Amino acid sequence: MLENVMIAAPIPVEDPAVKKVPALVNGKWADLNGASHPVYNPATGLEIARLPYATVADVDRAVQAAHAAFKQWRDTPVVDRVQPLYRFKTLLEKNANEIAAILTTENGKTIEDARVEVRRAIQMVEVACGMPSLMMGDSLNDVARGIDSRTVREPLGVCAGITPFNFPAMVPMWMIPFAIASGNTFILKPSEKVPLTPTRCTELLLEAGVPDGVFQIVHGGRETVDALLHHPLVKAVSFVGSTPVAKYIYSTAAAQGKRVQALGGAKNYLVVMPDADMPKTVEAIIGSAFGAAGERCLAGSVLVPVADAAEPLLKLLTERTEEILVGDGSKEGIGMGPVITNDHRRKILGYIEKGVQEGARLRCDGRGRAKEGDGYFVGPTIFDNVRPEMAIAREEIFGPVLSVVRADTLDHAIELVNSSEFGNTTSIFTQSGKSAREYQSRVEVGMVGVNIGVAAPMAFFPFAGWKNSFFGDLHAHGKDAVYFYTEQKVLMTRWF
Ligand code: NAD
Repeated sequence: MLENVMIAAPIPVEDPAVKKVPALVNGKWADLNGASHPVYNPATGLEIARLPYATVADVDRAVQAAHAAFKQWRDTPVVDRVQPLYRFKTLLEKNANEIAAILTTENGKTIEDARVEVRRAIQMVEVACGMPSLMMGDSLNDVARGIDSRTVREPLGVCAGITPFNFPAMVPMWMIPFAIASGNTFILKPSEKVPLTPTRCTELLLEAGVPDGVFQIVHGGRETVDALLHHPLVKAVSFVGSTPVAKYIYSTAAAQGKRVQALGGAKNYLVVMPDADMPKTVEAIIGSAFGAAGERCLAGSVLVPVADAAEPLLKLLTERTEEILVGDGSKEGIGMGPVITNDHRRKILGYIEKGVQEGARLRCDGRGRAKEGDGYFVGPTIFDNVRPEMAIAREEIFGPVLSVVRADTLDHAIELVNSSEFGNTTSIFTQSGKSAREYQSRVEVGMVGVNIGVAAPMAFFPFAGWKNSFFGDLHAHGKDAVYFYTEQKVLMTRWF
């Protein structure tokens, strides 16, 4: 089922102390003409900003401006196109702490997690600065007598990006620097829950000297997205978010002949063999399952101890999980912040209820932290004796809930992983190269780690899952991003 914008709670209308978040259209900051919606700090439940949404006419203005800017931008030599990105990288570095603080305020993740995210965002810009080399084609002389042949890559035109709430600094950078360095113009529609971080980054992009119309930011929910998906001048759409919306974006945009990459949701398995280094494995699992309050598409959410691994693993994991400090992520030393909205907290609590009803055993119960009227907190939760058919084993919860499904053998563990409708990431913990190799080659998953809690590819490698975690062909960042944002042409030349 497609969900529209989720609003946490009714709020008093138009507090003049709450700032409106502007959009950037054709090089100018302006309020959009649609209805305004509140943005909350999930650690306090307080409104921190008001977000006017784009109307269909607002989206059209942005697309027309992007289209008009395209001709000159595509003719700008690539070495000149990357100059603003070099300056942008420096500005991001200079302002990294401020961006991380904004990010924590609107998303809730800890300030430490936010700083890591900003660093990851900067790495995307660094890689895209290599566009002159990344865009190079192949050439071969005398493919036939006197005929030379070469390939060139050309930008597509106006590209759009629609991004989720959980990485407001990094995920937009999977798209923006690659798209514009390769000669496209770009319109970002960030998550309406976290517009402040991308807005601050946009200010820096302007300061770095990106020309008017080359980059724009508009806000909104489904209506805004639909206006982008249906606009004939939008040539390509990059989406990152939940699976039902990813499917919708993919089918709608592709049906109109647009190029699409749509990264969806996940249910990620962490498999632990009896020979694993248990203390290090437990630390990796905690970071994976409970880091960013489990709101990562790479978060481990099903733990599969194989045979004798179960008892020592779960004893240590339970002890360490109880020690995690839950609170306002802007305070140093907090191990886990709130989840994004009150509705999302309720959804997670509903899954915990369901797990109990279905007969799973609670080893750590995070519900004690979930006070109404406060920030949107849910404590780290571990279910043992989970059966593969239970909802908590199959469905994406996107919160700090870890389901333990025990397996007898490595074969059994691989069978469990491959039975999932998702295939984003997985990891095996073992000291056996043979088990690791077998695991890596047999799992039907896009990003596979060995002894790594969050197997996130770096900016110069591609990023995407398999099955219901991804719809499209070319993945995010790395060389795939260059291929996604360009069209290849083969030139054959003979001179008489
Ligand atoms: P979401 O799908 O609710 O929203 C993502 C974007 O789509 C937002 O900009 C939102 O405004 C827009 N949107 C929402 N509903 C829409 C609709 N009906 N029609 C058109 N547009 C719509 O996702 P979210 O809650 O912001 O983010 C969490 C989800 O994103 C999780 O499922 C997570 O696994 C996934 N995610 C995946 C990856 C990945 O790499 N595969 C990375 C990050 C997040």
